[in-house]
Amino acid sequence: MDALATLPLDPQALRADFPILSTTIHDNVPLVYLDSAATTQRPRQVIAAIVDTYERHYANVHRGIHWLSDQSTDLFEEARESVRAFINAPAREEVIFTHGTTESINLVARSWGDANVRTGDEIIATVMEHHSNLVPWQQLAERSGAVLRHIPIDDNGELILDEFDKLLSERTRLVAVSAVSNVLGTINPIEEIVRRAHAAGALVLVDAAQSAAHMPTDVQRWNADFVAISGHKMLAPTGVGVLWSRRELLDAMPPFLGGGSMIRRVKLDSFEPADLPAKFEAGTPPIVPAIGLGAAIDYINAIGLEKIHAYEQILTRRAHDVLADVGGVKIFGPPLENKAGIVSFTVEGVHAHDVAQLLDRQGIAVRAGHHCTMPLHKRLGVTATARVSFYFYNTLDEIDLLGRALADAKGVFRRRKA
Ligand code: PMP
Repeated sequence: MDALATLPLDPQALRADFPILSTTIHDNVPLVYLDSAATTQRPRQVIAAIVDTYERHYANVHRGIHWLSDQSTDLFEEARESVRAFINAPAREEVIFTHGTTESINLVARSWGDANVRTGDEIIATVMEHHSNLVPWQQLAERSGAVLRHIPIDDNGELILDEFDKLLSERTRLVAVSAVSNVLGTINPIEEIVRRAHAAGALVLVDAAQSAAHMPTDVQRWNADFVAISGHKMLAPTGVGVLWSRRELLDAMPPFLGGGSMIRRVKLDSFEPADLPAKFEAGTPPIVPAIGLGAAIDYINAIGLEKIHAYEQILTRRAHDVLADVGGVKIFGPPLENKAGIVSFTVEGVHAHDVAQLLDRQGIAVRAGHHCTMPLHKRLGVTATARVSFYFYNTLDEIDLLGRALADAKGVFRRRKA
């Protein structure tokens, strides 16, 4: 049977929706975009939704009283409903639009954290977290006198849950963990982590920035307390993200930012906050990016997250094979069955930045560095890795090209050193 016919989706047909993927770079080299963990590209359908909003429906939201504002508000609220359904949240009011995962996590650290975390309390993160899910807790610890602990990883890049159990205690207030590591690709056992954290009386924040576009998010199945995502990592514009939390938690939390829209009433010396979700959406929200996020969700749903995940596993398997064939390549992260479409590696004798630069000359966009995970790189014993990351628009041919380009790059380095 034709190998393509056995794929869960048709990447060539989908690529046609992404104008940027058919561009050439440098001197007419076709672009091979392997940096979707940094940010995904956008399909025409999302770009069209943005253009259509600006051309026909754009005004500020919720200030109502005129036709165009009602149109814009309807589209903005439809996008909120799309997000609610996408993450299986029980209520629309629990979906807070922010400007990204970073802001969502900072909102929790500032609002929930300042109100609930005291000297001697403990917060547990993991050594594989992105700086976005480390620094806000460090800042909270500085403000509150709380103590930070970190779940270690084994040599496969998986969390050591027995060590997690030892860290948990009646002092633990919050466990902050990513659903998928942006470097190792590890798919973390969120339901299990939540079960253990809740048994100890702690809440759980899930950084779903790297999972939301690649596998289903079900906040009720996870039973987590806070979930953060970024639009730009799931086909939507930059500048929009989401914080989901349970209504009773959000109701009890003080507002994060103060200003317009988040109030019911203001006097010169006091204010009364608005109801959810407005209470956490001070100022003019990211109206058009949020509408773009709604269109991105429609696009992803039309393909299906199960198919996307299954296809990414095929790409990841091929990447492991071609990298092994290059020789002298060390891949970090877990075995394939527990790995998302993210592969970080080092090449013997070649710095990660040089790897990225040599691949770029052949049109292949990868990322090199610490990927905002300095503590994880310290644990891995390297200062930098090269990272390839996939989405449904990548092809097996592109992965094969990566293998050939890496072999060439190694050759260039050998010659330079000789
Ligand atoms: N967490 C993880 C796991 C990430 O990969 C990223 C983005 N690289 C972030 C958080 C931060 O997301 P943003 O920059 O969109 O706020």
